[in-house]
Amino acid sequence: STMIEKVSSDIDEREKASQALTEKVTKDHLTGCYNRVKWDEERENQIADALKSNTPLSLIFFDIDHFKRINDTFGHDIGDETLIDVVQVVDKALRKHDTLFRTGGEEFSILLPDTELNEAMLLAERVRAAIEAHAFKAVEQVTISLGVTQFSGIQDTSSAFSKRADEALYASKNGGRNRVSYLQVTDWFVNMVYKFIEEQYMKIDSNKPKINENV
Ligand code: GH3
Ligand code: MG
Ligand code: MG
Repeated sequence: STMIEKVSSDIDEREKASQALTEKVTKDHLTGCYNRVKWDEERENQIADALKSNTPLSLIFFDIDHFKRINDTFGHDIGDETLIDVVQVVDKALRKHDTLFRTGGEEFSILLPDTELNEAMLLAERVRAAIEAHAFKAVEQVTISLGVTQFSGIQDTSSAFSKRADEALYASKNGGRNRVSYLQVTDWFVNMVYKFIEEQYMKIDSNKPKINENV
C-alpha cells in the first residue's frame, strides 16, 4: 500500500481507539447506558442547544423504589440484574432523541430535547407504566418514582433545572412512590418565595422575646 494509505489507515485505527476510549469513559459498565460523566457534559450541551435554537428541553429524574429491599431480599447480583433490566425497559419506552443516564447507584436521568413539559409528563408516565408492567425475573415487580421539569430559558440555570427534577422526584417518593410529579419554574420560584417569607417570619418570631425583654 502507498504511504498515504498507510498513514490514513493509522489515523483510522487511532480514531477507532479514541472512540472506544470515549465509549468506556462515558458509558456505565453495568447497564450500558450513559454515565454521570456524560450526563454532566450532555446536560450543558443540550441546554446550550435549546437556548440557541429556542426549542424546549425537558428532564426526567427517576429512582427505583425500595431498591435496598430488593438487594436485601434477593441479593446484590439480582439487584444488579434488576438495574440492567430497568435500563432495557426504559430504553424501549423512550424515543430516538431521548438520552438515558445512570447518575448514581439506582438513580437515573433522561434528557428530552425538543419536548415541552406536558409531553415529558406523558413520556414519564409511559416509562413508569412500562416498569410497573414488566415481569422482572425473581423480583417480579419493580416500581420507580419520577420527577419532571422543563428548562425555562435564560433566567434558568443548569443546577436549578436539576434541582427541580430532584424536588419533583422527592414529591413522588413522599406521595407514596410509583408515580410521576412535576415542578415548573414558576412553582419552584413561588416555593422559594414562600420559604423566604417563612424564614423571615421565623426570624421575627425568634426576635420577639428579645424585643419584649428590652421593653
Ligand atoms: P427509596 O424507595 O426511598 O428510593 O428507597 P431505596 O431502598 O431504593 O433507597 P436507598 O437509598 O435506601 O437504597 C438504595 C440502595 O441501592 C442502597 C445501595 O446498596 C443500592 N445500590 C446502589 N448501587 C447499586 C448497584 O450498583 N448494585 C446493587 N445491587 N445495589 C446498588
Ligand atoms: Mg436513591
Ligand atoms: Mg431508591
